[in-house]
Amino acid sequence: MTATIIDGKAFAARVRDKVAAHVAQLKEAHGLTPGLAVVLVGEDPASQVYVRSKGKQTVEVGMASFEHRLEADTSEDALLALIDKLNADPQVHGILVQLPLPDHLDSDLVINRIDPAKDVDGFHISNVGLLGTGQKSMVPCTPLGCLMMLREHHGSLSGMSAVVVGRSNIVGKPMAQLLLGDSCTVTIAHSRTRDLAAVCRGADILVAAVGRPEMIPGDWVKPGATVIDVGINRIERDGKNRLVGDVDFDSAAAVAGAITPVPGGVGPMTIACLLANTLTAAARANGLPEPEGLTA
Ligand code: NDP
Repeated sequence: MTATIIDGKAFAARVRDKVAAHVAQLKEAHGLTPGLAVVLVGEDPASQVYVRSKGKQTVEVGMASFEHRLEADTSEDALLALIDKLNADPQVHGILVQLPLPDHLDSDLVINRIDPAKDVDGFHISNVGLLGTGQKSMVPCTPLGCLMMLREHHGSLSGMSAVVVGRSNIVGKPMAQLLLGDSCTVTIAHSRTRDLAAVCRGADILVAAVGRPEMIPGDWVKPGATVIDVGINRIERDGKNRLVGDVDFDSAAAVAGAITPVPGGVGPMTIACLLANTLTAAARANGLPEPEGLTA
């Protein structure tokens, strides 16, 4: 193996420490405690784990955590009424509605009901538009985490060729916008891309956000490239359950200059960036300077 391993777990811990230091300062200097409200509808087991983890980490950095667990058959009106209440609550600076929602609820309608200034997931259509036009916005957490790791590793990304495999609204598209914002030359690849291998081989920065276990082998990676593996796939191997990324780690690490592992790469950065976004939202809501290095 030749690649430098980009340790997302350690990076996320540093982000959380930074957030905690800012929170302590906000409390002391301004009597302000940033607050994050998380809304969970139904009992999806994976969502329950995420929500628990978010609540725990929110409290650990000194913020207020407000958890709202609603029944799976909650009506859209009731959910929208809760969001209206959270929008109006000055103690709540960030609102996150855990996705996926049960089928009878319209996710777009619900997400777009959140005050864009409190939309710490960055999924509100206003924030999507602001990001796309290079204006100050709330940035989706997973791509923000990827960007932070890339900036730390490379310093400037200007002029680099970046390929993002995957065009979802929550990862691929905002990732591409962020890389463009940092002056990369960006290609977005997807399931209809012709000769994906050749496209990937042109990348100085290769971001994989597909959801297919180990789909990208080492011979698709340009020697010395930086590989960011967003994929989280559960597979069974040798009779054991394992988590793997969208990149075949061993063969890619043999040619890449740097690579994020799965687990321990992008994954831990997502909640750390959620906390960073909540801090940013609290600072903006109170007309205070934004914390440096924690936004796009
Ligand atoms: P989506 O399913 O929404 O999007 C997957 C994308 O991959 C689509 O754009 C699809 O193309 C593309 N794709 C599928 N098959 C291929 C293929 N054979 N070749 C090229 N492109 C292909 O997934 P998400 O963006 O939500 O998530 C992607 C991965 O990231 C998942 O493994 C998910 O678990 C993980 N993830 C990790 C997070 C973290 O915290 N680390 C957070 C969010 C997601 P098309 O549009 O043409 O169908």
